[in-house]
Amino acid sequence: MAQSDLYGVLGVAKDASQAEIKKAYRHLSKKYHPDLNKAPDAAEKFKEVQDAYDVLGDEQKRANYDQYGSADGAQGGFGGFGGGQQGGFSGGFGGGGFDDIFNQFFGGGGGQRNPNAPRPGRDLQYQMDLKFEEAIFGKKTKIKYNREAQCHTCGGNGAKPGTSPVTCSRCNGSGYVTTVTNTPLGRMQSQQPCPVCHGTGKEIKEKCPTCGGSGHEEERHEVEVTIPAGVDDGQQMRLQGQGEAGQNGGSYGDLFIIFQVEPSKDFRRDGTEIYFNQEISFVQATLGDDVTVKTVHGDVKLKVPAGTQGGTTFRLHGKGAPRLRGNGNGDEHVTVKVVTPKNLNKGQRDALRDFAKASGENVTGSGKGNLFNKMRDKFNEN
Ligand SMILES: [Zn+2]
Ligand SMILES: [Zn+2]
Repeated sequence: MAQSDLYGVLGVAKDASQAEIKKAYRHLSKKYHPDLNKAPDAAEKFKEVQDAYDVLGDEQKRANYDQYGSADGAQGGFGGFGGGQQGGFSGGFGGGGFDDIFNQFFGGGGGQRNPNAPRPGRDLQYQMDLKFEEAIFGKKTKIKYNREAQCHTCGGNGAKPGTSPVTCSRCNGSGYVTTVTNTPLGRMQSQQPCPVCHGTGKEIKEKCPTCGGSGHEEERHEVEVTIPAGVDDGQQMRLQGQGEAGQNGGSYGDLFIIFQVEPSKDFRRDGTEIYFNQEISFVQATLGDDVTVKTVHGDVKLKVPAGTQGGTTFRLHGKGAPRLRGNGNGDEHVTVKVVTPKNLNKGQRDALRDFAKASGENVTGSGKGNLFNKMRDKFNEN
């Protein structure tokens, strides 16, 4: 693999020390990190920087590059390590991966991050099932779930009551220890969380009997939730501070309630609008009528004018779902379906023949329906 001027990519001299290379790498990868830099070529630059550091940050690969112009050297040996998609992620950070690098940036650089800084707790998700009407009208309810809470015995510091945590003697409170390992690629320096204090920087001589030093305990937590009228399927609601306890006195995370709304047998809903199909007889459609129509707000009368065609939609103002922000409700849209009568009795057939005659229509059908149709109708009713 041909490689460009890696020193130029990092902006360091050919005789730069490892410390200078590392410093330049940290600076540039932060500068071009795609999460921080929205420039179109940021991702590409970020990868270039990663690739350059992958080689120059490793003495053996750097020596190969200096000599042969490629990290793989003349024999193309270190395939698994160089130039891949992993880039610098696996290099001098002890294989810590992306999170570690990220933490180092945002915690103030490797080893300097303050392990005692308050950190907020994790957010939690809760899926809540609602009936169709509950989503429309809202409701008050209580939910219960398990969460990591601050230990009630020690107040979260993990020490037995009457004692306090002390600065960790192994890492002097930094939370990190540096280890040097010999690898086929040379000596690798890496930082790892302190094995004594597990990165907290504090040592607890006498642990809290309730939480065993973690400062957290699991609790069954109950919250009262007021669901606003008009929530919809897939929407979520945030309850601040109802997530998990933070570290070092950091605030609690939040709880996100995600609503899953059951469909209705009668209605279809789209936001604030509700859709409903109403069957009417062809006489009602022809002569007009006041028809009782179901809405989520109760039955209402709908005036169907004479001569209404099947498929016509009427709007019932304010009979839809409430607007979450703002006043009032959406509408209900009623689409009428004209039902053709079946299995007429003699009186009905005669009346319709008279109707046809009065209309000047010559209809050949008898209106009796054959045996097969009757059987099919019976079958479909069951
Ligand atoms: Zn405790
Ligand atoms: Zn420590």
